[in-house]
Amino acid sequence: MTKLIILSFGLFVFFGCENKSIPGRIDKERILQADDEPQQWLSLGRDFKQQHYSPLTSIHKDNVKDLGFAWQYNIRTENGRTHRGLEATPFMVDGVMYTSGAWGFVYAIDARTGKELWKYNPKVDASYGRKACCDVVNRGVAVWQGKVYVATLDGYMVCLDAATGNEVWRTDTFTDRNLAYTITGAPQVAGNVVVIGNSGAEYGVRGYITAYDLETGKQAWRFFIVPGDPKKGFEHEELKMASKTWDPNSDWESGAGGTVWGQFAYDPQLNLLYVGTGNSNPYPIWFRSPAGGDNLFLSSILAINPDTGKMAWYYQTTPGEIWDYTATMNIVLAELKIKGAERKVLMQAPKNGFFYVLDRATGELLSAEKYSRVNWASHVDLKTGRPVLTGQGWYKDEPKFVIPALSGAHSWQPMSYSPKTGLVYIPEIVLPWIYVAKKEYKYAAGHDNTGITYSGSSLPFDKKFKPYYEKFADTVEMNILKAWDPVKQQVAWQVIQEVPTGNGGILSTAGDLVFQGTNRGKLMIYHASTGQKLKEIFVGTGIMAAPMTYELDGEQYVAVMAGFGGDPIGFYPPKGIMHEYENIGRILVFKLGGGETPLPPKLIKKEVPAPPAIQIKGELIAAGKELYIENCRRCHAGFGDDHFAGFPDLMKMSNEIHTNFKQVVFDGILSGNGMASFSDVLSEADVEAIYHYLISEQVKLYQAQETEQKNKPE
Ligand code: CA
Repeated sequence: MTKLIILSFGLFVFFGCENKSIPGRIDKERILQADDEPQQWLSLGRDFKQQHYSPLTSIHKDNVKDLGFAWQYNIRTENGRTHRGLEATPFMVDGVMYTSGAWGFVYAIDARTGKELWKYNPKVDASYGRKACCDVVNRGVAVWQGKVYVATLDGYMVCLDAATGNEVWRTDTFTDRNLAYTITGAPQVAGNVVVIGNSGAEYGVRGYITAYDLETGKQAWRFFIVPGDPKKGFEHEELKMASKTWDPNSDWESGAGGTVWGQFAYDPQLNLLYVGTGNSNPYPIWFRSPAGGDNLFLSSILAINPDTGKMAWYYQTTPGEIWDYTATMNIVLAELKIKGAERKVLMQAPKNGFFYVLDRATGELLSAEKYSRVNWASHVDLKTGRPVLTGQGWYKDEPKFVIPALSGAHSWQPMSYSPKTGLVYIPEIVLPWIYVAKKEYKYAAGHDNTGITYSGSSLPFDKKFKPYYEKFADTVEMNILKAWDPVKQQVAWQVIQEVPTGNGGILSTAGDLVFQGTNRGKLMIYHASTGQKLKEIFVGTGIMAAPMTYELDGEQYVAVMAGFGGDPIGFYPPKGIMHEYENIGRILVFKLGGGETPLPPKLIKKEVPAPPAIQIKGELIAAGKELYIENCRRCHAGFGDDHFAGFPDLMKMSNEIHTNFKQVVFDGILSGNGMASFSDVLSEADVEAIYHYLISEQVKLYQAQETEQKNKPE
């Protein structure tokens, strides 16, 4: 009898309490049954389907007006608060929130109070800050069986103890540290491995993903997305097939691109890992693979068996990609009734503007329709699975007005699928771009290797292109929250947002709610069936990441990582809200009956210092501007409008910086601050041209400031 009691007690401890007390306890059974405990958030998108949807209903359409501030956590790196972009969606497992910030810092936080439990500093080599195209962001962690996995900007896959944040193992994922690889994506646990890709296609790298043993960090397999020079043989058999879609004399030195930097998905029942692959490099195929070809596996969705690393099927969204149309956008798994039959599908809205529904077991294309403005293709032929080109996208012989732009009709900001409404909520971007190919192209290590010119960014608004612009008058810069019916492949409702904004990732809930942050510092909440605005909370910090929700002690919370940066750093000179408040990264958490959200400190506009009295070489200004846009603007996007995401405005340089300009840019005397030397990519003449461009701008700003002060009423 006693024995039996002890035995039962032991079993109870083992199954009932002890297991739950292990921090970060997520396993196959638990993630498959995530709907049994909707109070948790067990993956980037809550469960293995990555729908960014929650069945929680405590907060619903009728009471969401009472949503207010619960707590915040200031995202800090070693040197203080981070001013960099935040793009991750936190996990919440048994009362602990796990998430990542800039560079690959990891934070474990008490989800009731916001108290920090531990913080992991990845000690990233600061020079990688310069290699990152789109800010030093990180799109999230993976949590599995008491471990937290993160990939660092400088290319290490790291396994941490979920209880302490101590490193269990750390592995170098890069094949070549001389190339401009970085990592910004989130890892994915699949079977017995954790998988990670990389970023850097624009700078001339060859994309690949690598799988590591969960326990030891030992490499299990590596899958290259594009082949290398066929003369050197193939790393795996899929590349032999892929190479037939490339010119054998392709520009292999440029790496060809195809980097994997978004969110993966993994179906534990089918045991398939879904991988969205990136764009080409250089973009123009006439430079890259002169004979043409589909150039597999660029801009594709791959299904891979994680036990073997072998590909089960692939689908290429944009054959012969030339527009930066990555297919790394988040992949959502669902069961949809299509033509009367229940299908296990995956859905993606990649940059190219088409919404794809595929059978996720076989890769069969079920449907593909335009979810946005598209002029490079008329439609997707369902028989061949291929887009039918219009010719309007072919910019070899002359610049072409193309939509979507490089930014895509949808970027990394996660879309959400609600099984309750049957709608997908897409953070859509409507932006045209004039693609201008360089006259010639040669690979240059460390440089932008896209083979196009970025003066195209301002061309749609340039008089010279007025005819194009007018033709597409309704296609100016817009952000739309689009509710899309994936079965009918048509819009259900949409909300056109403030311009310019840039809309964040999405959360939908069974409380009939859709949550979305905006770059202008608001958390917006809409009715999931109608799009009616139910609530907006002003937080003063630009939001890009997708919100998530969880429940503890019967209280439902909504959390979001707020912090502006990322890709728009280079595209949008900052305006509006971003200039009223400092850009300080934080996790903001809300609950019903909560209070006012604390705003960040007001930004104090810096005066323009008097420029040094030097003779400006007018003939250098135009070249300097082009070099500035190509090399500097990614970070220093202030354009006289003060710092943006924490970067100094180079049009307001102090005399000290003017005096040391060459030492900063060439010798890297400020590399400790993340400003690495550019001596490997810029010549002395280049630096001089940039310098004269910046001073000419500073002179203009200074004069405007003087005039303004003179005209001020006494
Ligand atoms: Ca790209």
